[in-house]
Amino acid sequence: MLRNLFLFLSRQRWLRSRMERPGIAEKLVRRFVAGRTLDEAVKVCRRLAGENILVTLDHLGENVTNDLEAAASLADYQDALLRLRQERLGGTISIKLTQLGLDQSTDACRERVFVLCDEASQGGTRVEIDMESSAYVDRTLAIVEAAHARSGNVRAVIQAYLRRSEADIRRLNQLGVPVRLCKGAYLEPVTVAFEDKREVDENYGRLLTLLLAEGTQPALATHDARLVTRALEEMDRRGTGPNGMEFQMLYGIGRDLQKRIVRAGYPLRLYVPYGVAWYPYFMRRLAERPANVWFLARNLTRA
Ligand SMILES: Cc1cc2nc3c(=O)[nH]c(=O)nc-3n(C[C@H](O)[C@H](O)[C@H](O)COP(=O)(O)OP(=O)(O)OC[C@H]3O[C@@H](n4cnc5c(N)ncnc54)[C@H](O)[C@@H]3O)c2cc1C
Repeated sequence: MLRNLFLFLSRQRWLRSRMERPGIAEKLVRRFVAGRTLDEAVKVCRRLAGENILVTLDHLGENVTNDLEAAASLADYQDALLRLRQERLGGTISIKLTQLGLDQSTDACRERVFVLCDEASQGGTRVEIDMESSAYVDRTLAIVEAAHARSGNVRAVIQAYLRRSEADIRRLNQLGVPVRLCKGAYLEPVTVAFEDKREVDENYGRLLTLLLAEGTQPALATHDARLVTRALEEMDRRGTGPNGMEFQMLYGIGRDLQKRIVRAGYPLRLYVPYGVAWYPYFMRRLAERPANVWFLARNLTRA
């Protein structure tokens, strides 16, 4: 129930505008967010590179309300790509299509994605297209496929909690589109998503096997130690080793598991969010783990 409450609150604009004002909440947010600026995020990326960890930069933001905001998001990501290139960090960017104006115009959003793919391609990297709530899945995958056909440097994200995901993965595998597999972080009706966590985990396991067998450069995004172990065992059994795949985790979560993956010699990429529009991202992180609510409460009472 706490999960649903936090996911409900994550969509409340009135609370978002209050929480995102500079203040005490910022201290708590720092656990999950690398900083307010690109400079701060790059500093974190350099440190991670020293630990043999790859990065994907997320300039926080979603559901912009007009073209000006969408254009500003595009410019922010162009800056991020330039910095990744200058710093030779070998990082990718992770974008949300509603941050690039999907709610306003699918065509304009697609064009902005193409611009980013072209610039990423010049820097020898790729654009990872996050998956948002289920209402956006068809439009997001259509843009992913168009970008893949045009420049071949995008990664799709598929959520194991959605009932449709196996069919989506089979199609993306056929097209040779790299996939990041995650469990899914939004509030969804039972008609489209598994409600029971056990079912989500089981489906993640099935989809992980499908991706390792037939996928193109799959990325397994989870902090679930049992699923990471299962993936390591499967690759061991097949004798494939990492073979183009990578693990992905979120900045600030699962430090021990991160170290285990790096020590085992498998590629690990951390999702590094930065910026001032942190509220929905932060609330989704709280929703994922009830213990985080106590972390929040403890810090609020100390402040
Ligand atoms: C790289 C990456 C990219 C992602 N991109 C997307 C996306 O595009 N769309 C989308 O819907 N979702 C995305 N997610 C989020 C994902 O869907 C899950 O909500 C999130 O990863 C939690 O699920 P889990 O696989 O870690 O498993 P869980 O079963 O939720 O967690 C396993 C263990 O991980 C730890 N853990 C998990 N979450 C937290 C947390 N918030 N705080 C502290 N500990 C935690 C706990 O120890 C927990 O027991 C992404 C996740 C990652 C890692």
